Amino acid sequence: MEAKAHSSAAADAFDVIVVGAGFAGLYMLYRLRGMGLTARVIEAGADVGGTWYWNRYPGARCDVESMSYSYSFSDELQQEWDWTERFAAQPEILHYINHVADRFDLRRDIAFETRVTSARFDEAEGGWRVETDRGDELRAKYCIMATGCLSAPKRPEIDGMDAFQGAVYHTGEWPHEPVDFSGQRVAVIGTGSSGIQSIPVIAGEAAHLTVFQRTPAFSVPAWNAPLSDDEAAEWKANYPAVRAKERRTHSGFHNEGGHPAAADLSDQERQEVLEGQWNKGGLLMWNVFSDLMMSRDANACAAAFVHDKIRALVKDAKTAELLCPKSFPMGAKRLCVDTNYYETFNRDNVALVDIVDKPIERLTQRGLLHDGTEHEFDAIVFATGFDAMTGALLKMDIRGRDGVRLDEKWHAGPRTYLGIAMAGFPNLFTITGPGSPSVMSNVMVALEQHVDWICDCLMHLREQGFDTIEATVEAEDKWVGHVNEVTERTLYTEGNSWYLGANVPGKPRVFMPYIGGSGNYRKICNEVAEKNYEGFVLNRWKEGGSAPTDAAAANA
Ligand code: FAD
Ligand code: NAP
Repeated sequence: MEAKAHSSAAADAFDVIVVGAGFAGLYMLYRLRGMGLTARVIEAGADVGGTWYWNRYPGARCDVESMSYSYSFSDELQQEWDWTERFAAQPEILHYINHVADRFDLRRDIAFETRVTSARFDEAEGGWRVETDRGDELRAKYCIMATGCLSAPKRPEIDGMDAFQGAVYHTGEWPHEPVDFSGQRVAVIGTGSSGIQSIPVIAGEAAHLTVFQRTPAFSVPAWNAPLSDDEAAEWKANYPAVRAKERRTHSGFHNEGGHPAAADLSDQERQEVLEGQWNKGGLLMWNVFSDLMMSRDANACAAAFVHDKIRALVKDAKTAELLCPKSFPMGAKRLCVDTNYYETFNRDNVALVDIVDKPIERLTQRGLLHDGTEHEFDAIVFATGFDAMTGALLKMDIRGRDGVRLDEKWHAGPRTYLGIAMAGFPNLFTITGPGSPSVMSNVMVALEQHVDWICDCLMHLREQGFDTIEATVEAEDKWVGHVNEVTERTLYTEGNSWYLGANVPGKPRVFMPYIGGSGNYRKICNEVAEKNYEGFVLNRWKEGGSAPTDAAAANA
């Protein structure tokens, strides 16, 4: 894999094709360039940003603190960039990503408004052929999927989806032009993180808002606030230690760890711990007790605490009860972080409609039909989420050795080795793929780790003269077994979460991320590399020939 060798090849041939120009694809491009490799990034959107390019709905912002939800790879970058709020809003995050693209001159290697439709492993060439919706065919030795875990928006299967004559939006495909709801009757369907962020903002703008809720979510206050100069300076002064800690912890936060087990606390101590965490706000409520996701008793205690908070915040007792999640353990579905979500239901112009037992019957020309009543609207917002983790990958026709299709391989759920690679799909890597901590962690920490690991791997292949790397079936089976075993010890399998694919009818019900901890996972990945890529087969081409030589022994 010499950059030189490829520069003389046809214009459509690269060392590496990267699919996706979100945070992961951009960092990957930066690293590949630094290694002297030729790379092409292919992006369906018209610009960089991924999640933050597509999700422009009112109220969209990160729920991991901005100082932490940002790249760590360049100290100059993290020192020079100034975040204005504890949790930055989407426009600011998108501005940051654009700044990164400009600062490192990344755009010139990205093809925008181009969707990869297929990627096939070419046995004769030992590389990948990638086709796009523009009719391009590109070739590369390596193909890296930076396609995102939450990038395939999911609209619900409701009859008459085309019948409604008003405006229709999905939070994950929000228009670039401003949307003005003032004076309008608006419906929001869905009360996950996107719904919970957008509902208070839409309620403040619309004449009337009706929220259709199938499952209430657990939401914790963000306590968002402007970031003062002193706070930012403190973060920046401590960045080396903060970033190092983020890489070691379970969920990629520098301020986690040392949480008590509810089992070791008295009732009063439990309440104090819960109150303390609620007052700090944010996602660390997930770690409030070290046994929150292991012990039914600990979980029930935390859930009851949140229920009481909801009852105190929402004036109408019936609405408050509807907003209390009772059908799954707290944390088994992604915890939400909000600003004035529960308080929004105290407004005169907001109504909550429970649809758990009586689903929306159909959309009509003027609105939607529920429980025999037609509700009329000017606009309907689907905050109905994503075909998560596997959706973007399976939308492409990906074929490995012997033409085996990824959707065939994954018919009963995703199978990967470390969430990075798959048996039968040589030289294909997935960033934050299923089977890795990805969405169970601060995703920035997860994706930087994957990019770095993959780059080290490509360097190793180049230095050792290997042409292909492929996970073994045994290593993959063992890893899938481990991922499942770790999950089964927890409460994560309860509740119809997108982690389980439960939000997509017909999707195999498999818990997709690895919850063994991102620090622990990093150690495992490093050990695999140190043991000469244990669990992978590394091959050289026979001189002058096209068939791979099994050189498994060479990497032993
Ligand atoms: P993405 O940002 O999803 O980028 C993938 C890109 O690949 C997209 O631009 C897409 O267009 C492109 N693509 C996909 N398929 C193809 C194809 N076939 N051809 C060409 N291009 C393709 N995580 C956190 O840790 N903290 C947060 O606060 C947080 N907030 C979030 C808020 C929202 C609204 C959402 C939806 C997710 C949030 N996440 C958060 C998760 C977020 O997705 C990640 O943090 C991160 O942005 C993922 O970056 P990525 O580059 O891996 O993927
Ligand atoms: P989501 O969590 O999957 O929520 C989707 C909502 O739509 C759920 O309430 C779901 O109900 C409902 N729904 C789906 N299909 C429906 C149907 N047919 N009828 C009625 N209701 C239906 O999706 P999301 O809110 O877009 O969030 C996805 C993930 O993106 C989050 O979990 C998070 O990781 C990330 N995110 C983060 C932030 C942030 O705060 N930074 C913001 C947005 C998103 P059920 O629960 O009953 O399925």
